[in-house]
Amino acid sequence: MRSAIGVDIGGTNIKVTLVHESGDIITNITEPTPNGHGESSEKIKDMLVKALKNVLNDNVIGIGFGVAGIIDRKNGIVIESPNIPSINGFRIKETFEKEFSLPVIVENDANAYAYAEKWIGMGKNLSNFIVLTLGTGLGGGIIYKGELFEGAAEIGHMVVEPEGRFCPCGSFGCLESYASGRAVVDRTISSLEKGGKSILKDYSDGNFYKITPEHVYKSAIEGDSLGREVFREVGKYLGIGIANLVNIFSPEAIIIGGGLIGAWDLFIEELRKEFSKRVLEPLSSNMQILQATLKKESGSVGAAGLIFKNIKQSGS
Ligand SMILES: [Zn+2]
Repeated sequence: MRSAIGVDIGGTNIKVTLVHESGDIITNITEPTPNGHGESSEKIKDMLVKALKNVLNDNVIGIGFGVAGIIDRKNGIVIESPNIPSINGFRIKETFEKEFSLPVIVENDANAYAYAEKWIGMGKNLSNFIVLTLGTGLGGGIIYKGELFEGAAEIGHMVVEPEGRFCPCGSFGCLESYASGRAVVDRTISSLEKGGKSILKDYSDGNFYKITPEHVYKSAIEGDSLGREVFREVGKYLGIGIANLVNIFSPEAIIIGGGLIGAWDLFIEELRKEFSKRVLEPLSSNMQILQATLKKESGSVGAAGLIFKNIKQSGS
């Protein structure tokens, strides 16, 4: 049976996954992204070549890359990756086609994830839906008429608060600055610095910069009022962002995935409340808000899936 390799280049980890044509994972390698100061794309390339050689076999028909950042799809080049600046300008397609003599495609990581939802996930039987990935940041991907919409879909940088918090992209009040792992931590720290009461002070031994989204989640589960408030705020801004998306695209569903969905019960009520205030009512009646079922390898699985899809379309 044919297989393809999917590579997910994220700000924290790089995943190299060998995937069957059925969507099943055969092997997966996860390594930290070499992302220190002054790192070069050469180091990432060497690491990838090694990992790819480890999973490669004769059944592999191509390599798909999902990259956190803005990409030039046609030429397979990373235009700009805010979280991994060392790969800006990295000519992925050219480099790996030469190295492995296999077809290579390059897609944005959240778009690849959205494709995985269409291929083998919650969106299998849907034609139009939008995927949000709540991780360190907030990624987005759009499936339209059963196909991946090949645009930026940088939903995390939709402005939801004009005078709002600074976003590393250079703008202010982006959805990602209110609904992401980074947002959860920033919001918590700024409250604690103002003297807010919370059991999070004990978790962090007084060093607020040690706080992680997991700490905030744990505090909320234990009933901490700051922790609960932080996740309600995540829900509120997600509700605003999702209402905007539904008013524009009228999808059949919004699928939410990523590391933060473990906190679903802490934000969904506020999300639905805010969403129903702002959505055009006729567009919301058959619209579902769903939790993704695919887990952490979905970005790389989706990137591999795009290889099977492209090969099928080109008729070989
Ligand atoms: Zn932004």
